[in-house]
Amino acid sequence: MSRAADARTVDLDALRERVLGEQGGSVDDSIPQLADADPDLCGLALVLTDGTVRGSAQADVAFSVQSAVKPFLFALALLDTDGEALDRIGIEPTGEAFDAIKLETGTGRPPNPMVNAGALLTAAMVDGDDVAAREERIVRGLSAFAGRDLEVDEDVAQSEHLLGDRNHALAHLMRAEGTLSVGADDAVAVYARACAVLVDARALAVMGATLAFGGVNPVSGERVVPEGVARDVVSVMATCGVYDGSGRWMRGVGVPAKSSVSGAIVLSAPGVLGGAVISPPLDEQGTSVRGRIACEVLSAELDLHVFGSRWS
Ligand code: GLU
Repeated sequence: MSRAADARTVDLDALRERVLGEQGGSVDDSIPQLADADPDLCGLALVLTDGTVRGSAQADVAFSVQSAVKPFLFALALLDTDGEALDRIGIEPTGEAFDAIKLETGTGRPPNPMVNAGALLTAAMVDGDDVAAREERIVRGLSAFAGRDLEVDEDVAQSEHLLGDRNHALAHLMRAEGTLSVGADDAVAVYARACAVLVDARALAVMGATLAFGGVNPVSGERVVPEGVARDVVSVMATCGVYDGSGRWMRGVGVPAKSSVSGAIVLSAPGVLGGAVISPPLDEQGTSVRGRIACEVLSAELDLHVFGSRWS
């Protein structure tokens, strides 16, 4: 059976039931809205090349996208700066936490777009002369990736802005290094709002699929970003998307992905499918515990590992 056929028939509700038994991990408590998340929320979705969207139970439950937004901010920054974002941000893994107060030695650039320093900068680089215009551009761009109009959870945006002390520190550090050209507080405001965009597993899976299919949204048919942008973004997801757990992820799951503190994981399996899992309890590296297991099972069952046995 081909991989596409497997993705069409794999029983997502059975997989959901299977991972729900896993009780490890703890829910992020950096803001009250995340601390209040239901630890037993669990939803999965897959999007196939023909635009078919398959979801398990709870694949329609809304949550804030958090760091799963970072690949898409990078894509929009590459698009809006005509690739200049690649000169202003590194693309090397850090081996450190997502919010480490650290820039590249010698250049003062963020190490990569998948950690907070990089995402603060990509969010500042999209088109728009002021905070409101950049926020508008980001929500519009993310909606194109999702193939539907997305909204912002205003309470989450406010909490992220007020309580994101490490993000404020990173923005000031980038100002001091001359890396960030907009005001530090403005940069945090725009990034906080991007993290607060509401998605569900289905929408996030379509976003992942748009990157997996070379920048064309398989549901709307819209070309959202050029193929080269999608390839650059998926490459950096593969090397940096799961923070200091990226090596373990690549070995065990082998699919470019981005994790987030809301417990979401977005998957982009090039040319094969997009996917998303939401389950709030996180491991020490900020990866959803059930999400990881679900992705390991999917990767094995659908033969998704990018370094898998293509010769058999
Ligand atoms: N909003 C979170 C922060 O910047 C995102 C982190 C994550 O999802 O890993 O702290």
